[in-house]
Amino acid sequence: MSNTADAIRSADAHSAHNYHPLPVVVASAQGAWMTDVEGRRYLDMLAGYSALNFGHGNRRLIDAARAQLERVTLTSRAFHHDRFADFCTELAALCGKEMVLPMNTGAEAVETAVKTARKWGYEVKDVPDGHAKIVVAADNFHGRTTTIVSFSTDHDARDHFGPYTPGFEIVPYGDLTALSHAVTENTVAVLLEPIQGEAGVLVPPAGYLQGVRDLTRERNVLFLADEIQSGLGRTGRTFALEHEGVVPDMYILGKALGGGVVPVSAVVADRDVLGVFRPGEHGSTFGGNPLACAVALEVIAMLRSGEYQQRAAELGDHLHHELNLLVGGGAVTAVRGRGLWAGVDIDPSRGTGREISEKLMGLGVLVKDTHGSTIRIAPPLVISKEDLDWGLDRLRSVLSA
Ligand SMILES: *Cc1c(COP(=O)(O)O)cnc(C)c1O
Repeated sequence: MSNTADAIRSADAHSAHNYHPLPVVVASAQGAWMTDVEGRRYLDMLAGYSALNFGHGNRRLIDAARAQLERVTLTSRAFHHDRFADFCTELAALCGKEMVLPMNTGAEAVETAVKTARKWGYEVKDVPDGHAKIVVAADNFHGRTTTIVSFSTDHDARDHFGPYTPGFEIVPYGDLTALSHAVTENTVAVLLEPIQGEAGVLVPPAGYLQGVRDLTRERNVLFLADEIQSGLGRTGRTFALEHEGVVPDMYILGKALGGGVVPVSAVVADRDVLGVFRPGEHGSTFGGNPLACAVALEVIAMLRSGEYQQRAAELGDHLHHELNLLVGGGAVTAVRGRGLWAGVDIDPSRGTGREISEKLMGLGVLVKDTHGSTIRIAPPLVISKEDLDWGLDRLRSVLSA
C-alpha cells in the first residue's frame, strides 16, 4: 500500500483502536531516519521508546540476527541451545549480578519480577502465604497486563479492566517518608522506575533512589528497578541508577535489549533472589530463544564498549543545554530528563503535545506527546550531532510559530 491515507483508513478499519498513531506510514528506516510510503524522510526522535537505542537497521545487530536465522531460531526451553549460556553469562556480567531469567516483552519481565518477589517473600523472608505486599509509585508505567494495570494510577490504562490483582501499595514518587510508612513486615519489594518515562520523563529528587536503597536494605525488602526504558545507555550510563551510585536487587530489562530487532526482556539478580525458581514454576515458550539471545549478545557486546553510553552523555548534555535555553521563553515551561532523553512541557497556549507533534511531523521530525502538554524526545543513541541540531531547529521553529 503506497498511499498514506489508504493505509491509515485500512488500518483504522481492521485494527483495534488501542493506539492513536501520528498519520505517518513508515516503509523503511536506517540509523536515526525513517522513510514513509511516499518517500518523505523523518528524523526519529522517539526510537521506539528506547527499543531502538542503537538505531534502525544497525549493521552489527542485523548481521547477528541474519547469521542466527541461518542456524537455529527456536528450541523452546525444553532443550538447551548454544547461545543461551553465553547470553545469561554476559547479561549477568553487564549487570554485576549472578543470574538471568529471560522473557520477551517488558510486561512479562515485570510480571516475572513480581512473581520472584512474592516467592522470595514466602520462601526466604517468611511472609505468611498470600499476604505479600509490593510498594509501587504513583504515575508508574510498568506495562499492560491485568496485574500490572492493577497498580497503575492512569485511568486509561486501568479503568474497566478489573477485578484487580491485590497486594500492591501505591505511594507518591520521590517521597521517601511515604515510602517508609508504606513498608510493613509483609512488604517483599519496592518496584520503581529510576526515571518515570511514560509519566513525562520525571527524574526523582537527588538522594531519593539512594534513600530507597538504604530503606529496602534495612527493612529486608527487595529493590526492583524497572530499567526497561531508562536502562542500556539511554541516560548516558548503562543503568539510570548508576547516576546515583545505586545497585538494586533486581534489574528489569527489555526494549533496547532486543536491539529493535526482536522482543527480548529479562530480570537479572543474584542467586539468593532468582534461586527461588524450580523447574515448572515459571517460563515462556519464546523466552531466551536462540535468535533473541544472538541479538541480545550483540547488544551486550556493544554496551560493554561504553561507546553508546558516552554518546548519550555527550549528546545528552548538548540536548539539555539547548532545551533549557527554551525554558521561560513563553513556549516551554519545563524540561526534564537525563542523557538523550527529555520531557518537554509545552505552554498550553502553544497547543497540545499532540498538536506540536503533528507540526513537527510536518517538518520531518517524529516525537511523541504524553499527558496532554508534554513531548518526549529520545532519539537513537547513534544520532549524529548534526541531525540532533537539525531536529532541535525544527522544534524551535514550531515553538516560535
Ligand atoms: C515499555 C515499558 C514497559 C513495558 O514493556 P512492553 O515491552 O511494552 O511490555 C515496562 N516498563 C517500562 C518502564 C517501560 O518503559
